[in-house]
Amino acid sequence: MKFGRRPMQISRVDAGSSTAFLVHTDVVNWVLLQEGSDLTLIDGGYPGQAAAVVESIRTIGRRPEDIRGALLTHAHVDHLGGLVSLSARYGFDVFADPIEVAHARRDYLQQAGPGDIVPIAYRPRVIHWLAMVMPLGVLSRKGIDAHPFPSPLDLPGRPVPVSAHGHTDGHSAYLVADGSVLVSGDALVSGHPISPITGPQCIAHAFQHDDATARRTVEFLTSLDATTLFPGHGPRHNGPVAEAARRALEVS
Ligand SMILES: [Zn+2]
Repeated sequence: MKFGRRPMQISRVDAGSSTAFLVHTDVVNWVLLQEGSDLTLIDGGYPGQAAAVVESIRTIGRRPEDIRGALLTHAHVDHLGGLVSLSARYGFDVFADPIEVAHARRDYLQQAGPGDIVPIAYRPRVIHWLAMVMPLGVLSRKGIDAHPFPSPLDLPGRPVPVSAHGHTDGHSAYLVADGSVLVSGDALVSGHPISPITGPQCIAHAFQHDDATARRTVEFLTSLDATTLFPGHGPRHNGPVAEAARRALEVS
């Protein structure tokens, strides 16, 4: 087993002429949208997972050269990291909510730092998580020259941004597969290595930039009609996203 290599599960939702794939690893997830031979990549894992992103693309029978553009849910290192080297190597643009662009460029950083982690670092789950993510480049501060969403956002699989601020100021979710799947990033997750519970939940307080806004976002997600959740962390969740959001509000 290669150093830093994580187990990977890929699942799919077909919708008309396009397919949405969730690539789930035990530390973070990313999403591939395929339309014909063209791909949209949503998030790119940790810096040390760029090769795993390429592996996931080859597993679905495509090539990284097929990426027509990437989307960020938010600019934390576990979602942005792999995109830094991949976008440079394969020459695709990365788009984000206009508010998230400066964060992606690392003009500032809204990410849990030692001050947030040290108070909980004695917990076995946190120690285990740190051991997993340190080799993947969790301390990298490299940014990316992301662009605000163009209008129209014309990318394979026709992803539709859903404003989901709070986890970071410009966090965005995406409706994909004709609106049947919500790619929720860290606005709504179904598990996390430091969480003792499974199923829909809000991510741990230590990782939230603005808890109150993040909660209002989850309240808004209870109004969506999507029937499958592709979260930023944790496995795929089948069932109404609105119900998942309600459950997250109850347990978090
Ligand atoms: Zn995350």
